[in-house]
Amino acid sequence: MSRNLSLQDHVRYIKGVGPKRAELFKSLGIETVGQLLDYLPFRVDDYSKIKKLKQLRSGDTVTVFGKIVSSSVIPSMRGRALQVEISDGSGTCHLVWYNMIYLSKQLRPGLSVVASGKVEWRRGGWEIAHPLWQKADILSRRGPIIPIYHGRAGLNSSTISRIVSQALSTYKGVITEILPAYIILKYKLVSEKRAYKDIHNPPNFSAWLKARNTFAFRESLFLQLALLLMKSKNRNAGPVKPYDKFVLSREFVDNLPFELTEAQNKVIGEIESDLKAGKTMNRLVQGDVGSGKTVIAIWALLAAVANGYQAALLAPTEVLARQHMDTIMGAVPAGVRIGFLSGSQSVKDKRQCLKQLAEGTVDILVGTHAMIEPHVEWHRLGMVVTDEQHRFGVKQRLKLSYDTCAPHMLVMSATPIPRSLAITLFGDLDLSVIDELPPGRQPVITKVLEPRFRNVAYQTIEKQLAKGHQVYVVCPLIAEGKSGRSSVEQMFKKIKHVYLKNAKIGFAHSDMNKVEFSRQIQDFIRGKTQVLVATTVIEVGVDVTNATCIVIEGAEAFGLATLHQLRGRVGRGSEQSYCFLIPSDEALKLPSRLKALESMHDGFSLAELDLRQRGPGQFFGLKQHGLSDIDMEALGITPDILRLARQEALEIVTKIEDDRQIPFDFFMLLEQMNARFGNLFKHARSR
Ligand code: ADP
Ligand code: MG
Repeated sequence: MSRNLSLQDHVRYIKGVGPKRAELFKSLGIETVGQLLDYLPFRVDDYSKIKKLKQLRSGDTVTVFGKIVSSSVIPSMRGRALQVEISDGSGTCHLVWYNMIYLSKQLRPGLSVVASGKVEWRRGGWEIAHPLWQKADILSRRGPIIPIYHGRAGLNSSTISRIVSQALSTYKGVITEILPAYIILKYKLVSEKRAYKDIHNPPNFSAWLKARNTFAFRESLFLQLALLLMKSKNRNAGPVKPYDKFVLSREFVDNLPFELTEAQNKVIGEIESDLKAGKTMNRLVQGDVGSGKTVIAIWALLAAVANGYQAALLAPTEVLARQHMDTIMGAVPAGVRIGFLSGSQSVKDKRQCLKQLAEGTVDILVGTHAMIEPHVEWHRLGMVVTDEQHRFGVKQRLKLSYDTCAPHMLVMSATPIPRSLAITLFGDLDLSVIDELPPGRQPVITKVLEPRFRNVAYQTIEKQLAKGHQVYVVCPLIAEGKSGRSSVEQMFKKIKHVYLKNAKIGFAHSDMNKVEFSRQIQDFIRGKTQVLVATTVIEVGVDVTNATCIVIEGAEAFGLATLHQLRGRVGRGSEQSYCFLIPSDEALKLPSRLKALESMHDGFSLAELDLRQRGPGQFFGLKQHGLSDIDMEALGITPDILRLARQEALEIVTKIEDDRQIPFDFFMLLEQMNARFGNLFKHARSR
């Protein structure tokens, strides 16, 4: 081979990836071969135990294999269904899909398929409704364990799988070992090469589990190392000037149109004593949606300003940042200078803002992660408040603390996770809890509805609209996909032409251009539109008190914590509010998980339930926990893995500090850290 292979190579070098596919991969955040290999399947389908069709029993969940002998469209209660008959020589079985007739294009007679699902005796024969299925030829190519990737239109899971395999066979030689050998032994992990091979091309289920566990441990170790190095940096940053001026903060609170709740006062007291103590504050404030965290954020920002520092309020989305900007402009005492910085600003505005920041003529900066770009210079940054922490990658938070001068850190989260987990996720921080809602709030009436009863939701909505209120409709997808789940485009049309013909309807999702997106959101905030159909882009923070109803389509696709967040978009005023959870057609039975939301209104209990059911991966912040391109939720990380990784990281850091040099064993591990966080490691080394 003439070229030196590298994991930094562009995916275009892989056979089967042309310019068009390269674009599609880019939309999934994949540009290099390394990123492609780190794009892990989120689950595998196990076709290893195939049942003969003559052995089927009602109620069993099975995997079957057979050739399609016929395919027909049959009437069903809720429309039409595709019925495909397969035979394996020993017997026959029907595979049935409701309202997914388009599958008939793929499921033609003569094709051999493997299908999994629950068998029932119906219409005089065996039947599996909505099975997981694959063309059988994939099994001879891949073995019985099929990895499933998140794809997108034009790039499905099996294409991704094929291309990843291609990349693996070309690039396996350049995958190097990262973990020290003793750690691999101690935790029964596998080598890097094997881990990549077995997670993408598992020969059997247990090999896949082992590979996944290796990734889970490796990523947890990186996370813990990063957090510990940040801590040691903070420890060595030297003393901090104690704050002693709180007039601006007090003035702000005195001018609020309401009294603070007892819980808000308690948390402010905790922050105040941190700031007076003369060491760097690192505090997490947890408070359920609507508990009034913004007021506390502003209190802290003003404390920094009164004591001669600049302060930053970092929001995860542009929408939320703008909203905070409006709130702050209307609330802070005169003379406090406020700036705004976000990715979508004009170059001129940005430049002006950066200049003022560096000169110190801006006191409070509100913005998005544009403010943690390397070229942002502060005059005297003293306080960083991060809103909706769960939306941020750890990397982003580390970066702020790192590139600046160890400012006080206050992070706000509506995802109340147990303290032990908070520490393993966010490092050593103090915890404040707002355990009380402002007075007058009523619990949101929550109802799980089968799709065929969707009109019940829209009857309620019509009444709400008639009273002048507003409504959100949330869908899991932007455009129609094959999965049968609702999309923004499809629901928008349906609502406009069927459910609410006379309403003013807007829509918003992340694929639209930024100007149009913010216009849509602003129109809703200002009440120009009555209904907003959107993806989960509205999950965090959006505060429209007049919105009293939210419909969540494809609800089974979301975790409880996310659903609770979404529900928190309504019930923000004193009006009775409603939340309807509608699973996809595909999820024929109503998931009992969703039912929990009908009776549970407390985010803390819901988060714990989610933790038990889905593991802590979901708390890493979307897909990006920021340490790599690996999807932490897909790794099945447990609190135990995090704890062990933390112990191991602690030993490594202590050893490096004691030896004052890097033991050979850790070289690759720290090289990787270095590549991911140049600054972090340099600092640890230079002390
Ligand atoms: P979250 O904790 O979800 O960020 P917000 O800070 O957005 O909540 O507050 C939700 C709403 O409650 C806002 O409209 C805010 O003005 C209001 N609010 C906050 N604190 C109080 C209070 N003590 N009494 C009454 N309303 C309050
Ligand atoms: Mg908030």
